[in-house]
Order: sequence, then C-alpha cells, then structure tokens
Amino acid sequence: MKQEIQAFNNILELIGKTPLVRLNRLTAGFPGEYYAKLEAFNPGHSSKDRIAHFIIEEAERSGILKPGSTVIETTSGNTGFSLAMVSIIKGYECILAVSSKSSRDKIDMLRSMGAKVYICPAHVSADDPRSYYQVAKRLHQETQNSIYINQYFNDFNIKAHYATTGPEIWEQTGGQITHLVACSGTGGTISGTARYLKEQNPDIRIIGVDAYGSVLKKYHETGEFDTEEIYPYRIEGLGKNLIPDATDFTVIDEFIKVTDEESAHTARELCHKEGIFAGYTSGAAMQALKQLQEDKTFDANSRVVVIFPDHGSRYMSKIYSDKWMEDQGFFDSKHVGEEQQIQV
Ligand code: PMP
Repeated sequence: MKQEIQAFNNILELIGKTPLVRLNRLTAGFPGEYYAKLEAFNPGHSSKDRIAHFIIEEAERSGILKPGSTVIETTSGNTGFSLAMVSIIKGYECILAVSSKSSRDKIDMLRSMGAKVYICPAHVSADDPRSYYQVAKRLHQETQNSIYINQYFNDFNIKAHYATTGPEIWEQTGGQITHLVACSGTGGTISGTARYLKEQNPDIRIIGVDAYGSVLKKYHETGEFDTEEIYPYRIEGLGKNLIPDATDFTVIDEFIKVTDEESAHTARELCHKEGIFAGYTSGAAMQALKQLQEDKTFDANSRVVVIFPDHGSRYMSKIYSDKWMEDQGFFDSKHVGEEQQIQV
C-alpha cells in the first residue's frame, strides 16, 4: 500500500506557529525565565507574513480583491516581501513603495518575488508627495482594480496578531507569561498580541520598544505629537514619525527607547551567545530587555517573552558588515569569529 505524501499544499500553509526558544547565555544572571518568539521561522522570514496573509484573505472574503487585482503597499521591506509572496501564490500583481533607507538586499529580494518597486526618499515628511505614503496613494488612485493595504492604518493588521501571535504565545507559555517585550512600528504586532494576552490575564505587562528619533514613547506618555522628537535613525521597522492607527496605545503599559548602536551590538551578541542570527529590531528588542533588567523590572517569577521580528540575512550589508558598523562609528564592531587568508 502506498503511503500518503506528507507535504504542505503551498508555502502559505507554513505561516505562523513559530517556535518559542529559551534564552540562556545572554540572560545569564537575570532573575526569571526569558523566551524569544522567532518570527524568522515564517516562510517569508518575518512576522509580516501573518498580516499579508490575513489582510489579503479578508479582502478576498469581503469581495474587495478579485482575480487580476493589484496589491499596493508602503513597506520597509518585510511587509513587501510577504505581500509579494502571498500575491504570487494567489495570482495578484504587487506594487511596493519603499523607503530609500531600506537595504539593497531587501529591494532585490522584493523584485525577485515579482514585485514592482518604487524607491522613495526616506527623510521627507509623510505628507510630501515624494514620501512612500503619498506615492502608494497616488499609484492606488491611478491603478484600476487595486487595493492599498495601508498597514499603518489597517485594523486587520492588529486583528492578524490578535488571531495568531497572541494565542500562540499564550498556549506556548501555558499562560505563565508575565511580560511581553515587542517592537513597535505600525504597532500591529504589539497591539494585537497584547490585546489577546490582556484578555486572558490583564496583569501581563506589555512593553513596547521604540527608537530615539521616533514619536511613539512621548505620545504614549503625554498624548502629544511632538515633532521635536523626530530625527533620522538607522533601525528599519522600529518607531515612527507619525501616530499609526494600527497601534492601540491603551494595551501598552510602557515604551522604552533604544539606540542604533546598542541595538546593533546586541543583535551581534545574539549570534555569538545564543546562536540566533536575527534582524536589527531583534537586537533592539533584546537591548530593551537588557535595559529593563537594569531597571529591576523582573524578578524570579518573571516569564518574559520577547518577539524577534525577522532574520539576520536581511542585514548582511548593514549590522553584519564590519565595514558598515565602522562607517556608522559603532565602536568595537568586529565579529567574534576569526578570518584568515590562505596564501596561494
Ligand atoms: N521589526 C521589523 C524588522 C519590521 O519590519 C517591523 C514592521 N515595520 C517591526 C519590527 C514592527 O512590527 P509592527 O509593524 O507590527 O509594529
């Protein structure tokens, strides 16, 4: 008798159910237990697979997306890759407006997945016609039968994480989680996950990670949109120069800011202490966790989950390049692994 073939029907069936892994050496001496949720285990190597899949399927259900439609979005790279992947499988065109701050690797990856990419200047205001928000809006108006995903203002961004990331973490920790540490960009990940977790246990403390140069922390604390907080920084996907609707500030207990330099070093530390090759914002989240530990946030009963949004391979020409690190003036930025030239 023939055995049944054990295979998924297509790549989209691998989205979600990402592993939780215990952190050991980087958190040595910290009270409590620490676990990382590895979103790089999604097939598109980031948490954005969840929202791309969820939003597109919701749009299909409600009849907004039809065969031959075009999917349009602004993206720092990861959402674009995920949308391109979902579009390929489902037969949609994919157009992406990206920031010039995005790495060359990311742009080439998007094009490999069949997307048409518009590269827009990073350091212009959101209402400038050259900004990636305005370019995407214009393309949406000009392209018949298109949808604009608009992840910063799309409620399904939060709902995707409420439906998947939150329940997964609750189940994986057997309900023992006491703290969630998660980066905030659109805010979809932290808001959706936190909303689900707080419904199960309102005492779970939700800590958002923000960048110096972003408005989120100050807005959370004062309700004020302070443009003085805005200046260029290097971490992609973390923090914002506007207040996204996809952030539910009421489920976040506090924000903590991290620097470009410390986040980059902590990402490298994750490699050589935990063997986890993660992205820049994973370094940022881990850096925030370190700062929280220094502030004595945790005790022996703490069961802390930190979300690592994507994979290190997306940052080869940035934080994993010694040259890039030196060019930024990030000191002591050599890899711990050695390199030797064999003479020919
Ligand atoms: N890390 C990376 C690498 C990202 O691309 C993003 C999304 N922009 C985030 C973190 C933040 O996730 P969210 O948008 O759900 O807040």
